[in-house]
Amino acid sequence: MIENYIKAGKIVKEVRNLALKEITNGMKVLDLVNLIEGEIINRGAFPAFPCNISINDVTAHYTSPPKDESIIDGGDLVKIDLGAHVEGFIADSAVSVSVEGESDSSENKNHYNTQFQEELIETANEALNTAISTIRAGVEVGKIGEEVEKTIHLQELKPVANLTGHSMDQWILHSGISIPNIKENNPHKLEEGDVLAIEPFVTDGVGLVSDMKDVYIYRFLRNRPLRMVQARKLLETIKTEYKILPFAQRWLEGDEKTAKSNMAMRQLISSRAVYPYHVLRENSGARVAQAEHTVIVEPEGCLVITE
Ligand code: MN
Ligand code: MN
Repeated sequence: MIENYIKAGKIVKEVRNLALKEITNGMKVLDLVNLIEGEIINRGAFPAFPCNISINDVTAHYTSPPKDESIIDGGDLVKIDLGAHVEGFIADSAVSVSVEGESDSSENKNHYNTQFQEELIETANEALNTAISTIRAGVEVGKIGEEVEKTIHLQELKPVANLTGHSMDQWILHSGISIPNIKENNPHKLEEGDVLAIEPFVTDGVGLVSDMKDVYIYRFLRNRPLRMVQARKLLETIKTEYKILPFAQRWLEGDEKTAKSNMAMRQLISSRAVYPYHVLRENSGARVAQAEHTVIVEPEGCLVITE
């Protein structure tokens, strides 16, 4: 078990560093997610969820739809959130980058400067390090959020209050414990062996996110009676291929790309057989930076498997 976590963590670290080297002004988001997911597979693991590339005020849950034409622009604040699993044991990590180079958009030219974005990113990294240094068996979950919030407030910035880290288990990305990014009265105590993804988000906006209408990531929820043959087939494919881990609409391309399969997916969502992860955006349209590592709780600290 621990060997699988270590292997997944090492792969995530390598691919994250590769992505940081490869990301450039003018690159297609689709090329970046394909590179990241492909390199995870080349190294002997599988993506634990579709690689999220969330840009500027888009905070989480964006992955390329099929044939995505969107482009990474100079001046963008890009969050790269990737996960790998080895036999279902998951490592989850994210990094933020302010993309170098000339911009095409007036928003990037006029409203944001690179130096300020670097501060957002630096603060997210600091908050993550502070959280990690707090973690050991017996620590209350609420205490971690308090330390994260304190670190971010010191820079006169805000954590995103309604996004949290999470515990993980084999094949389960969110296994029950939430790790807040704000002070909370949660007396639940961490235990040795808990596997946690710690992920502060930092912004100069209001510090809340909401669902957009867009959905590109889904996961299996439950078996339901389904009228449409196509929907029943699609649900079987999803269960076999991804179990209860998140998957991308993009991954189903190839065998399932007709209008019928879109209808099948809509039926799976409306019958609550499949859960849709809506893209999340910062409520005031402000930019957000994120940093994330996966740790395993130990009696006197924790083992960071993704660094
Ligand atoms: Mn993540
Ligand atoms: Mn996570």
